[in-house]
Amino acid sequence: MAVSPNTSIEGIDRFRHADLSGHIMPLPRHRGDDWRKEALCAESDPELFSPSTGESADAAKKICASCDVRAQCLAYALENDERSGIWGGLSPLERRRLRSKASAHERARTARRKRDLDVVAQRQNGRDATTIARVTGLNERTIHRIIRQARTDQIAV
Ligand code: SF4
Repeated sequence: MAVSPNTSIEGIDRFRHADLSGHIMPLPRHRGDDWRKEALCAESDPELFSPSTGESADAAKKICASCDVRAQCLAYALENDERSGIWGGLSPLERRRLRSKASAHERARTARRKRDLDVVAQRQNGRDATTIARVTGLNERTIHRIIRQARTDQIAV
C-alpha cells in the first residue's frame, strides 16, 4: 500500500500495524491540509493512485485532471518529497523531472541576479557600459537594460 492523498490517517495506521518494515510514515498534518477535503480521489478506488510497476496510471490521472485541488496536491507532494503514487496528476518520475526542472530554473535565476548585481556594482564604481560589456562578456544592450532596471528599482547607478 502506498500513501496517497485519499489515504485516511486511520488507513495508514492500519497499514503500519500490518507492515513491520515501517517504511510508511503517517502523513504530516499541517495548516494546508484542508485541500484534502476537496480531493476527488477520495471518492475513487485508492488502488488507482498507487499503480504497480507496469500498470497504467491513466485512470488516476484522468481523475486528477478534473480535481479542483490538483495544484495544492502537487505542491504538497513536492514539498514532502512523496516518492510513490500519483499526486497532482503526476507520477513519481514526472514529479522528479518537474523538481529538477524547477531547480535548474532557480539556479539560472540566481546566476542572473548575481550577474545583474555585478553589473550594477561596476557601474557604481564608475565604469561605463562599454567597459562593463567588455569585462563581463555581455552585450551593451544587456548592460543598459540591467542599469535601467536598477534605476526602476531605485538603486543609485
Ligand atoms: S489531484 Fe489527484 S491525487 Fe491529488 S487530490 Fe486531486 S484527485 Fe487526488
